[in-house]
Amino acid sequence: MRLLVTGGAGYVGGHTVRALLDAGHDVTVYDNLVYGHRETVPCELEVGELADRRKLDALFARARDASRPYDAVLHFAAYAYVGESVAEPSKYWRNNVAAGLELLDAMRAHGVDRLVFSSTCAVYGPPTRLPIDENERKAPESPYGESKLTFEQVLHSYATAYGLRSVSLRYFNAAGARPDGSLGEDHDPETHLIPLVLRAAAGRSPGVKVFGTDYPTPDGTCVRDYVHVDDLASAHLLALGAMETPSACLTYNVGTGRGYSVREIIEACRTVTGREIAVVEGPRRPGDPPELYADNRHIREALGWTPHYTDAEAIVRTAWAWHARQSIH
Ligand code: UDP
Repeated sequence: MRLLVTGGAGYVGGHTVRALLDAGHDVTVYDNLVYGHRETVPCELEVGELADRRKLDALFARARDASRPYDAVLHFAAYAYVGESVAEPSKYWRNNVAAGLELLDAMRAHGVDRLVFSSTCAVYGPPTRLPIDENERKAPESPYGESKLTFEQVLHSYATAYGLRSVSLRYFNAAGARPDGSLGEDHDPETHLIPLVLRAAAGRSPGVKVFGTDYPTPDGTCVRDYVHVDDLASAHLLALGAMETPSACLTYNVGTGRGYSVREIIEACRTVTGREIAVVEGPRRPGDPPELYADNRHIREALGWTPHYTDAEAIVRTAWAWHARQSIH
């Protein structure tokens, strides 16, 4: 297929681009490079803003004129810092919703009718039961989660009115890296647990802070469902094949179904790296629910998705392959 990947210079987008290329697809990345990394893009790259309708139109028109129109779009481009979204909601509504509408309307104008959308388990908010299935109450606790939920709703109305086909994938905690260490999680600023622990292990920070040790969980720390980024990538490939039905508008959780606590993750990092990691126990981070893990039955049954990585140490090992390489270069 000929595919346009927005946000393909980012973390999940970048790993998915590799998987798409490995599967023989023809890929163009569209990214503004605000958070993305130019040097990681292994295919055609068009630098542009999602809100730049003229540029998007030109891109679709050029592909059509060359008789190689895009068959589908994978839409990763978004801002994804929960805390920042609370402080600067305008940025999130504009980029994650308003700019996304420019993309959808450009697709409509050029007859491209398939989209895979990066959604998030942040659309649920605090769960009423575990594991979390797709019918869980939607009560996002941040403008980030609200913006993602709103875009899912836009996709529903575009399916009904315009026949746009879509699959929204609600990621749990994306983690890990290409096992050969060639590509990894490279956020600036970094806020995620595993890269922060591994930076400490690599001696690039003094230690890691545990946000809350008094949660109602077995060891008092938060439990999350860490899903390997290559398993997220494989979910996108399967989603591309799941839009044969006209006006299909599908939504799936993508998580392993198993939770690990913050302490278990730190322990896995100690085992994998063989290094000392200094830990400071601190207060809870506002807005963190105690426990989140996915019911992934639907994506398993409907798309035949199976996570290759289900064990925290295996995931951390791939992340470490990349972190260790950063320390050398
Ligand atoms: N966390 C932590 N210390 C950190 C960063 C994260 O204790 O420096 C905890 C956080 O409270 C949450 C879990 O690790 O329970 C995963 O957080 P992360 O930011 O990686 O992902 P989130 O679950 O917020 O999407």
